[in-house]
Amino acid sequence: MGPAAGFEIDNWLRDGGLVLAATDRAARALQTAFHQRRRDEGLAAWPAPSILAWPAFIRSEFFNRSDGRMLLNPAQERALWTAIVATEQHLAALIEPSRLRLAELAMGAHDLLCSHAPRYLKESARAAWDNDSAAFSRWLSSFDAACSKNQVLSPSRAPLQLIEQLLSDATKRPPLLLAGFDRLLPVQREVLDAWGRWQQVPAATPATEIHYYAARDEQSELVACAAWSAQQLAANPHTRLLVITQQIAARRGQIERAFLCALAPSAGSLFEFSLGIPLAQVPLIRAASSLLRWLDGSLLENELDWLLSTGFTAATSAESLALQSHMRTLRRKGLARPDWSLTAFTAPRSSLDPLPASWLQRLTAARQRLTALKPRPQSPLDWAGLVPQLLELIGLPGDRRLSSAEFQAWQRFEQALDACASLGFDGRRINWSAFLSDLSRILDETLFAPESANAPIQITGPAESAGLIADAIWFLGATEDAWPTAGSRHPLIPFQVQREFAMPHSTPRADWDLAQLQTTRLLASAPAVHFSFARQSAGTAARPSRIITQAAGTPQPLPVELARSPFPEPLTEKFLDSSRIPFAQTSIRGGSSILTWQSQCAFKAFATARLDAQSWDPAEFGLTAQQRGQLLHAVLHSVWGGPPLGLRSLTDLLAISDRPSFVATHVQRAVREALPAEVRDRMPQRYLALEETRLTRLIAEWLDYEATRVPFTVEQTEATGTATIADLTFGLRLDRIDRLIDGSLLVIDYKTGDVSPKSWNLPRPDDVQLPLYAGFALGQEPAGLLFAKLRAGQSECVGRMTNATDTFKSDLSARSALAKDKLTPDQMRDWRKFLTQLARDFLAGRADVDPREYPATCDQCGLHTICRVHENQALLALDEPDADEAADE
Ligand code: SF4
Repeated sequence: MGPAAGFEIDNWLRDGGLVLAATDRAARALQTAFHQRRRDEGLAAWPAPSILAWPAFIRSEFFNRSDGRMLLNPAQERALWTAIVATEQHLAALIEPSRLRLAELAMGAHDLLCSHAPRYLKESARAAWDNDSAAFSRWLSSFDAACSKNQVLSPSRAPLQLIEQLLSDATKRPPLLLAGFDRLLPVQREVLDAWGRWQQVPAATPATEIHYYAARDEQSELVACAAWSAQQLAANPHTRLLVITQQIAARRGQIERAFLCALAPSAGSLFEFSLGIPLAQVPLIRAASSLLRWLDGSLLENELDWLLSTGFTAATSAESLALQSHMRTLRRKGLARPDWSLTAFTAPRSSLDPLPASWLQRLTAARQRLTALKPRPQSPLDWAGLVPQLLELIGLPGDRRLSSAEFQAWQRFEQALDACASLGFDGRRINWSAFLSDLSRILDETLFAPESANAPIQITGPAESAGLIADAIWFLGATEDAWPTAGSRHPLIPFQVQREFAMPHSTPRADWDLAQLQTTRLLASAPAVHFSFARQSAGTAARPSRIITQAAGTPQPLPVELARSPFPEPLTEKFLDSSRIPFAQTSIRGGSSILTWQSQCAFKAFATARLDAQSWDPAEFGLTAQQRGQLLHAVLHSVWGGPPLGLRSLTDLLAISDRPSFVATHVQRAVREALPAEVRDRMPQRYLALEETRLTRLIAEWLDYEATRVPFTVEQTEATGTATIADLTFGLRLDRIDRLIDGSLLVIDYKTGDVSPKSWNLPRPDDVQLPLYAGFALGQEPAGLLFAKLRAGQSECVGRMTNATDTFKSDLSARSALAKDKLTPDQMRDWRKFLTQLARDFLAGRADVDPREYPATCDQCGLHTICRVHENQALLALDEPDADEAADE
């Protein structure tokens, strides 16, 4: 439509006619244009125009001639179809997701019959249908019976009902002008003919400037489109642009980034999407939905983390901080869970600070209100009425100031609740969890976009663009495969019927004709139209659309001024930050880990030891690796803990006749005493028994290995000590210290992973625990540092010893690493020197982001969101000349 069409619409409305638009969006656009023209004429007030979208027109005419039947809303219609499909004796109908999918398909098939082939709504006309079509035919008969029984009507049937009413009503009706219809469905044409006088807005003059571009890939295509939009707006800030893509939902994030990048990061108001996001994904609504579920069920650990971090559950920021801190402390105490019920989260724990009293009071009151109703099934109306009360008790949205978008989202949430309430139209009563599942489905299906701010750039799909006009259009993704859109036939309607009535996707010709119509309409919707496609998409080559080639000629390369690098010029200026904040204290908790982190990456030590930044692993349904490690250490501590229950020497060990039974006793004790009761109680007993068996086998095998050693005595287990290095005092803990046959001391660290003494190698060790303890806390030169590797079938010790053959194992081969790679005084001296320097660096506040080995060190760290190492490494890679260039130089 162009200026002539605007003139035509004005005249039509002034003559008392009614304008019908294909979609709500097109109706809004026509109203905006009408009001703008009145303002341009200098008017201060004028009558509201009679412009309606097609669905609103049908609804309003149906209600004007109501025969007492209620028009179903989509949720009600889906519920009816789902109940009918559920009666089918088929596996697919037993599982909820596939039952819902079948109901959706049946609803779509019914709509197609109503709009294209109403003669098949008669049961007798479908008598010859077989297989899946026969099943659908049965469901349709049941649907008709249910509608008749409940005195309701599907919106798909409303136009058919209207045709009959219009034909029997001779009242004079205003003429209709249609705008933005790519094509008229048979049922629409019948309604219009029954109405009386109607006509379409005449076609506008086709665009004079048409281009078709071929980009290298989808990213370059998108970047070019965003750059073009920015140029158009820079040249004329009042210009109106339409960007059309079939992939709004799939590429929304990429599109948003490209436009923000091209227009300026704060230019969000310059463009808007026609397609919203599911209401369930709007944070405020997601929080409300999660809280409702939590009152009577569990939230996954990550869902609860999200909920607490948004602050939507808290009334004040202090309350929000207290809740997040509570969650953190639960993790630190080893009480993490993969899912959390409200009861488990709020259980009083003597070792933790209490939860904020006001928060607890609100949640408890809401839960009690729900519990009072919950045992009995209720009507959806009752449940929907309860939801606002529960949320009010919890304090959502409470007194918080909602943004305009949040306010609109909350209104849509209330409408979604109304839709849920309306599911009681057939008198059903359901339990709370069924109600929540209906609500969650409706929230998932309701698309929400804040009210249009009439942004100059509208991003929309080909069909949704019907009735919109602009100064220029860019159509993305015009490939042979995507335009015309290739769809599939409906699986529940016989193919012959689909073909006979030219239903969507019934033949390639039908797809081609529709795409042709839409292309022609687009070409008449703006003076300049640009089409583009990417030659490479998802690793495969793409060809240009033949429809677009016919209209715009062979695709040309992107203009140079649009083919920019996807990386914008950095706005930041690099500088070397050498400032340091010295550590003012003289002692620190965290032990040898701090110097290990300092060696791995100075920033890791700074962030962890001084800023208390920590990552954590997700909780598991079974024991975590850390809990299994703690159990193993507890058992070995118990086994070598000395009399009365434990051992102290090789002699004690050799005196044990039944090692597995001996170990099993210690394992059971450790499981009882070392695992927190809360963790133990939520594990299945059978699982814990299996874990005990595994641990018993592993440690019995380990004791068999120890039984072949040269005589020794265990001096200490879980030994503690302190080390002062460069004026900083560390508390240290070591798994075990043995006294060997020559009186010297051996330090041992238990490991279940595949460790190697190479991790102590200078210049940057990956682990400094044993060198640190041996060098600064042992009080004498050690005879060896060993990792005791407890691995099923591979139990052994690795490390460095001064004389392993005489003091550790006499049967060692001369070529074994333990016999060959000796521990020397020089090594001890070098480690001491290096560790002293690490401590000095830590005290001085050295915090450079400098991983020992990128990316392996970072993979084990988890602080990359703070140190931004991945972004920095990407920039470094860009700065570095590639190997070929370097070789040339
Ligand atoms: S992620 Fe890597 S660079 Fe970042 S703190 Fe950890 S080790 Fe250092």
